[in-house]
Amino acid sequence: MNSDSQYQYQDRVVKLDPRKQFRLGEGKISGYSSVGLGVLSLLAVLAYLFPAYLTTYELRQVYDADTLQHLLKYGMYFSLFFGVLTLVLGRYRRLGSAGIVLTLIAFALGGYTIPTGPVEARRLSLGVDWLILAFLGSVFIFMTLEKLYPKYRDQVILRSEWSLDLLYFCLNHLAISAILIYGNYHASHFDWAVSDSLQAMIRATPLWLQVIAVILCADFVLYWEHRLYHEVNLLWPVHAVHHSVESLDWLAGSRGHFLQVFSERAMVMVPLYLLGMDQAALNIYVAFAALQAVLIHCNVNFSFGFLKYVFVTPQFHHWHHSSEQPAIDTNYSAHTVVFDWLFNTYHLPGDRWPATYGTTKPLPDSFIGQTLYPLRVLLKKE
Ligand SMILES: [Zn+2]
Ligand SMILES: [Zn+2]
Repeated sequence: MNSDSQYQYQDRVVKLDPRKQFRLGEGKISGYSSVGLGVLSLLAVLAYLFPAYLTTYELRQVYDADTLQHLLKYGMYFSLFFGVLTLVLGRYRRLGSAGIVLTLIAFALGGYTIPTGPVEARRLSLGVDWLILAFLGSVFIFMTLEKLYPKYRDQVILRSEWSLDLLYFCLNHLAISAILIYGNYHASHFDWAVSDSLQAMIRATPLWLQVIAVILCADFVLYWEHRLYHEVNLLWPVHAVHHSVESLDWLAGSRGHFLQVFSERAMVMVPLYLLGMDQAALNIYVAFAALQAVLIHCNVNFSFGFLKYVFVTPQFHHWHHSSEQPAIDTNYSAHTVVFDWLFNTYHLPGDRWPATYGTTKPLPDSFIGQTLYPLRVLLKKE
């Protein structure tokens, strides 16, 4: 454990930027809502037109395309409604017009009445469906939590670099098929380690025990993978991209170099593959991991009670993103705090939160600059 008794902790100062704030009655909220729903509607219509190329094989197994067309219908009408409201309110006419035009294009391409049917089996595709559903789910769950229980009330939604993180969010979700294919391919190299008797024993245990086993095994692998990214000089510039974000919220955790995104998924597939637990246990784990990964970056100050000493919470992971000395290279775990505690990298100073986030050495602030950053460090140009 870090000896931090001498360290002077300070409170984080977040100043409200009124130009970036959303206020009722100005037309900015309706303008962004109209454009957001317009973009999502157009993407959804394209996914209905070209499902073999723009939807995810794994995800199609769990949702009903016909039911989701009702959601699309409401999305399109709300985009038009918000667009007209924005035009009436007057100050953000461009946003209103853009939202209306996007939705009219979506209507012209077939809208919510495109016939659905069997989809040609093609495993490599763009996860447009995954992008839309994850975005709607995240806005609905996490932005609501951030509004109800904000850690920093004055931190605006359109904080600096939000559009860069939105780009990462979009690319990481669109690439879901490629990530899954690579992860499965990687796990298949561990065929030699599969034990039928161990898998039979695991499947014979109660579901809740299977879920605990998979959380701990995945956490162990993710802990060491994460620690290597921090402590091996060659790997750090790849992971530094995730740490370059200087304000944390639901979108911030999306920032990650594609090498890290692919390798993380590939590594976690190995224990999942070897354990061979029931599909139900796997589904619970995947949902838990996906929600927790977003939650721990959120700008929320939710009281987790004693659970904060068991699971990785926003306070715990915010410390991992801190650029303050006692917190550097601590709190690697993804799910529970067990391995940080066991391997002496646990840092949770009472109710304190970090004053600053980010890397001690600044990274480029563009997507291309960050993607090339590890290469530039390798060539000694940074
Ligand atoms: Zn890290
Ligand atoms: Zn993080």
